[in-house]
Amino acid sequence: MTIGMASGGESTPTAVDVVILGAGINGAALARELVLNGLSVVVIDADDIAAGTTRWSTRLVHGGLRYLEYGELGLVRESLAERDRLLRLAPHLVRPLGFFVPVRGWFGGLFAAAARILGFEVLARRWAGARGRGGLAVACGLWLYDLLSTGSAWPRRCVVRSGAEGMPAVDADRYPLAGVYDDAQMVYPERFTVELLVDARSLAAEKDVLFRILTRRTARVEADGRLTVVPAAEAVRGTVEKIVLAPRAIVNATGAWVDHTLGELLPPGDGADGRPQSGESPTAQRLIGGTKGSHLLVDHAALRRALGKRGVYAEAADGRPVFVLPFGDRLVLVGTTDIPFPGDPSTARTGTDEIDYLLAAVRLLFPATAPSPGHVVQHYCGVRPLPARRADGRTPAGITRRHMLVRLAAAPLPLWSIVGGKLTTCRSLAEESAAEVLAVLGLPVAATSRNRPLPGACSLGEAEELVGRLATIAMKAGVPREGAPAMAQRLVGLFGARAGEALGIDPSLAGAGAVDRNSFEPLGDCPLPRGIVRFCLDLEWAETLADLVERRLLLDFDPELSEATLRAIASELVQAGRLAADAVDSEVTALRAMMAERYGKRLRGERLGDRD
Ligand SMILES: Cc1cc2nc3c(=O)[nH]c(=O)nc-3n(C[C@H](O)[C@H](O)[C@H](O)COP(=O)(O)OP(=O)(O)OC[C@H]3O[C@@H](n4cnc5c(N)ncnc54)[C@H](O)[C@@H]3O)c2cc1C
Repeated sequence: MTIGMASGGESTPTAVDVVILGAGINGAALARELVLNGLSVVVIDADDIAAGTTRWSTRLVHGGLRYLEYGELGLVRESLAERDRLLRLAPHLVRPLGFFVPVRGWFGGLFAAAARILGFEVLARRWAGARGRGGLAVACGLWLYDLLSTGSAWPRRCVVRSGAEGMPAVDADRYPLAGVYDDAQMVYPERFTVELLVDARSLAAEKDVLFRILTRRTARVEADGRLTVVPAAEAVRGTVEKIVLAPRAIVNATGAWVDHTLGELLPPGDGADGRPQSGESPTAQRLIGGTKGSHLLVDHAALRRALGKRGVYAEAADGRPVFVLPFGDRLVLVGTTDIPFPGDPSTARTGTDEIDYLLAAVRLLFPATAPSPGHVVQHYCGVRPLPARRADGRTPAGITRRHMLVRLAAAPLPLWSIVGGKLTTCRSLAEESAAEVLAVLGLPVAATSRNRPLPGACSLGEAEELVGRLATIAMKAGVPREGAPAMAQRLVGLFGARAGEALGIDPSLAGAGAVDRNSFEPLGDCPLPRGIVRFCLDLEWAETLADLVERRLLLDFDPELSEATLRAIASELVQAGRLAADAVDSEVTALRAMMAERYGKRLRGERLGDRD
């Protein structure tokens, strides 16, 4: 099914049940839920899929141990249930991660925690003390966490002595005890979001309903309820026609941009049609009161070894929670800060003060292997889409992480905005939101995604087997014996069970069928094969070099990313007719400059201390 385009004059509007603005994890999960219920859906994003906060998060799928202190028992219970569900439905992207909570003694923090639960934030801060939470407070929290995760097959939590085997090697003199528990990590929420949309597309084909994704576009509601979709101000490539849609409902899932989107979506009118008059905001008050949070990616072999397989969840000197997490086999992810950020979320950047603050927190934990600013290979920063209305006296860390669906009465058609939400609860948020949208459209809930795996879902055992078979096929296609397992590993790590499909092969044939040797050529210096680029362009909505590097292949997290790799990808774009041959230099230069400016990423050979 196609969408009517107009290049100049009037076009016939395309009827669609729901338009979703924002292709972050929440917009994508909702799109899938609605298509699952037989609705036609168009998703519009001002940038690319998962280009917003989804990409700038700590990447944990967790119950939220610290939300217990704010009495958010319902949120913790929901998050724990969703954590277990996502581990089951997307085991290739959501993996269990053990946590270690170092404390300075048994006592401390109990009165502060009690005051916080009862809502006395000022007292809680006064009683918090310099030594942070003690073992008893942590044990109580872990006991509650256990209680709220009934049904989970995971081991019970406990308190251990520091220095125990297999535990992170924190400073045992300063932190003699630690709580131990399990949560999960979604290393690539970007890929999780793409897979939600891939699944929505398959469902739409099954149900024969319209499903489209329009990136680099924004939308405006006309007085008659029609929606005009226009190219976003930036990054307009070639001629992108104006599209006119006739939706029955709209959901604004633009996260930290929700208020800005509403202003754009419902430009001020004369007041006659219920729209805000010029100068008025579409909502009586702002919906979002975002806070920015920064992260560091640290390349320090001794620190990575000291961390081992577990993440550390600790307190910085000022008592704020800080995570020190394994990020693949080589890097350590440190986050985060929590600073009110009223500006345009796209302009949020990590400050040097935040880098110092996070490094100081790591130094307290791991003084013997403390990283210096030179070990920070990149940093990143996102704005949390938190509700603007907050309980009196609450610090940014205390603002609820619960999500809500807010309906805007002044709009000429049903229009909701999603406020808040986490990676962890994207599916339950989608289920709740879909139920409300369906009800308003007069339709029953016919299905839910509670037991629907993502398209790439495969267990650890299946993934290992697939890696073996793909490595064999890669060798038959001419990939050197020493490089084939790394290529297969990387492919399965990104695409899960879809790794074979991504290269146009059926891995169950173990290479017996014809294999296109060209698609196994390496992409510059990176172990991924060239063929994967075409797959992302044709079947995963990638359009630009940045889409491929940052949100499909996740190469920006590779400390060895080189200019040769960027050029190899750009040349695939040229071959696919997506980039003019004479634009390769400027495309590569622009991406390098953007990565350096936005998140301090340098290519191999450009970093201070690089030997080559
Ligand atoms: C520092 C930090 C750490 C976090 N850590 C975790 C964590 O560990 N675990 C967890 O569960 N959650 C975490 N979160 C929360 C979680 O990341 C977010 O709540 C979630 O990603 C929000 O997703 P979203 O889809 O609502 O928004 P986004 O991912 O921001 O998506 C919104 C989309 O809207 C698009 N857009 C903007 N304006 C327009 C427009 N006018 N028209 C169309 N599209 C537009 C953007 O390009 C973007 O793609 C963290 C958040 C932050 C900031």
